Amino acid sequence: MRLFPLLPLIILLIADAPTSVLSRKNGPGDDELKARAVKLAHNYIIVDTHVDVPYRLRKKMENISVRTEGGNFDYPRAKEGGLDAPFMSIYVPAGYEKKGTAKALADTLIDMVAAFATDWPDKFAIATSVSDVRAQSKKGLISLPMGMENGAPISGDLANLKYFYDRGIRYITLTHSKDNHICDSSYDTTHTWRGLSPFGKKVVKEMNRLGIMVDVSHISDDAFYQVMELTEAPVIASHSSCRFFTPGWERNMSDDMIRLLAKKGGVIQINFGSSFVNDEYHRASDEVYKILRAHHIEWDDPAADEYIKKYQQEHKFDYADVSEVADNIDHVVKLVGVDYVGFGSDFDGLGDSLPNGLKDVSFYPTLIYELLKKGYSDGDIRKVCGENLLRVWSEVEQAAKRMQSMK
Ligand SMILES: [Zn+2]
Repeated sequence: MRLFPLLPLIILLIADAPTSVLSRKNGPGDDELKARAVKLAHNYIIVDTHVDVPYRLRKKMENISVRTEGGNFDYPRAKEGGLDAPFMSIYVPAGYEKKGTAKALADTLIDMVAAFATDWPDKFAIATSVSDVRAQSKKGLISLPMGMENGAPISGDLANLKYFYDRGIRYITLTHSKDNHICDSSYDTTHTWRGLSPFGKKVVKEMNRLGIMVDVSHISDDAFYQVMELTEAPVIASHSSCRFFTPGWERNMSDDMIRLLAKKGGVIQINFGSSFVNDEYHRASDEVYKILRAHHIEWDDPAADEYIKKYQQEHKFDYADVSEVADNIDHVVKLVGVDYVGFGSDFDGLGDSLPNGLKDVSFYPTLIYELLKKGYSDGDIRKVCGENLLRVWSEVEQAAKRMQSMK
């Protein structure tokens, strides 16, 4: 929601005038920077830790080996954007835990991702290690590592962690929208466990031992601090942004949490969603959710788009801009340095709420361009695009080897 859309723009133009004239004279021009962004996107490994393709296709099957009409991801657009390794989200909605069908759903979604690689072996390949990602990227293949969103499929049995490791799962988001048997959710006010459950504490240890990255996105603040106490390897936030820009919203990470995450070597992968990076949009979408709930429509139902558009027209609020995603990245960099941040878009999981200039997987160069405008070096871009995440993943692999050899 931009109440005074022109005012900041005018200030920005005035404030920016001397530097932009200067940069045109002395530094690289706009077209040059844009071309450099495209080149870097294709030269460096881009890892995106949260892409909801399986969930999207479960609702409506499409052939992602060719350009699709809907959705944010398909092979041609991923290639255009320079994407190397989108983590396929094995998303299990909260309700499945009670029904006892969480494990079955996870298996179905993993089967779907496995089929992408067997159906189109010249385009996609499963990745279960950092070396898989590097080797497949060299061959021009798009790697499909997998992360499980919601630990519900563990179903109270630690043996299921090994089971899902063997099926290719390399991170687990401990919970999703509700408290589950592992830990509390940032969206749930019940505070069932005041953080991690006793079983959840064992889950973190066993994930460390197996080499599955612990994902702290979605979990409550209490649970986050308990994970940080317990974990013997760095952790990731697979798709969270900075609470600095959305004050009071527990789903995003506070500065204190980002500092602690970085201190322990972890990485925050910035969520691209307009409501994650822009407070006005966030507050407006809260209002829209109230309307949707009144009409018994789920936020990710296609029917919801109509309500969102109508609300946008009536209230004159616009999507966030790609530059605000860059601002979130830059906030982390200013807090803790360039080694602890990356991309966790949430593509295909956000409905119609992506920022202008960042609508699908072909747009990574636009985001890189925004970072170049901020003065990021090629080396900085390389880290943010994928090397930070690969470093953490590699440290998790090493920690698991150490722990297993100690037995
Ligand atoms: Zn999520």
